[in-house]
Amino acid sequence: MDEELKKAELKRLRGEIESAAVRLGMPRGKKFVPETAPAVLLTDALFYEASLLGASDIHLTPEEDGVRVRYRIDGDLYDRVTFSKTGLLSVVTRMKAISGMDIAEHHLPQNGRFSLDLYGKDYDLRISALPSAYGENIVIRLLSRELPFTFRELAFSPDEEAAVLRMLSKPGLVLLTGPTGCGKSTTLACFLKELVSEHRNIVTVEDPVEYLIEGTEQVSLPADGRLTLGMALKDVLRQDPDIVMIGEIRDAETAREAVRMAIAGRLVLSTLHTADAVHAVPRLRDLGVENGFLADALTGVIAQRLVKRICPKCRTQYTAEDAALPDVRQLFRGNGCEECQGRGVKGRIAVHEVMEVTPRLRSAIRAGKETDELYSIAREEGLRTMGENALELLKGGVIDLNAFRSVTGIPERK
Ligand SMILES: [Zn+2]
Repeated sequence: MDEELKKAELKRLRGEIESAAVRLGMPRGKKFVPETAPAVLLTDALFYEASLLGASDIHLTPEEDGVRVRYRIDGDLYDRVTFSKTGLLSVVTRMKAISGMDIAEHHLPQNGRFSLDLYGKDYDLRISALPSAYGENIVIRLLSRELPFTFRELAFSPDEEAAVLRMLSKPGLVLLTGPTGCGKSTTLACFLKELVSEHRNIVTVEDPVEYLIEGTEQVSLPADGRLTLGMALKDVLRQDPDIVMIGEIRDAETAREAVRMAIAGRLVLSTLHTADAVHAVPRLRDLGVENGFLADALTGVIAQRLVKRICPKCRTQYTAEDAALPDVRQLFRGNGCEECQGRGVKGRIAVHEVMEVTPRLRSAIRAGKETDELYSIAREEGLRTMGENALELLKGGVIDLNAFRSVTGIPERK
């Protein structure tokens, strides 16, 4: 959408949300006959506005004297509007009705989902309702079905990109690691899109499917838990896949199946919760994978974090005062402008750490070496840490000091 149009649309939505919020607080008098129920208007306008602002979640939090609406944008929550608690019930009812929840149930947590077209883009909306002291808390996650970027836009250095392409070109287990919300599944989806070919059968097993990727078979685990990931993987094998993407390795059964498929000559892609690349090895050992099998299967691990980019419109250079980074003095930050809604940051970039399992590293895994030793070997074999990659982005003015600190683990300073 064109910037001017977007601005006008945001202004219109803002007005709509505010007037709907006011009407929601009105007592139902005889003379007041709204053409469209304000709860419907408010919910719809929130979805549209959230999508325009690039929000990933909408939070409706009932408090003592009102309902707070916040958007999560680039990882942080921002206040948007507050409406009267009088309107809460009708808004919650509307949310429950469109997402298939029981509208009469107010005391138990519920989940629902539905699909929506917002400005020509397909979204999957997942709604969670949780009873709290002041009413039902609602959180809506907006998932775009379209990939936000391509493989080339993943910001790997040329060496890292070459290593990733090597991992993806042969059988083996390739893992993406990092905390929840670090964009692991987006990166995996970019890999899969790159791998799609009429000569390969690509199957994904997810809980549930996030991105729709043409040219692949995607299996969503049913929400009722009847089918476990491990069980589904056995059926996937009967589908004669060349490439299998597993949403996440969470248990021993899934870990075992993933390793077995990789050893049997398939490319297996999945995600794990570990802080850095090398810790994928002890994590898989904890899940019961033996060193020999692990060494045979694992071809690479990519750790990832998402950090905020400095807004290009209001970026300025300044001289750092503190001595946190003695060798870097000239830094950049965003001062806040209309473009970034005064935040000084806009959008995010993935910072990576690519660990390719080289022959030396493979022998060390097979020999059961400890994590520290594996890390030293990986470093000697050319591993560039997330901290080092983040430092490059800091020096280049892509990210600010707070974003850099969020990667290196040094607490943020405001
Ligand atoms: Zn700005």
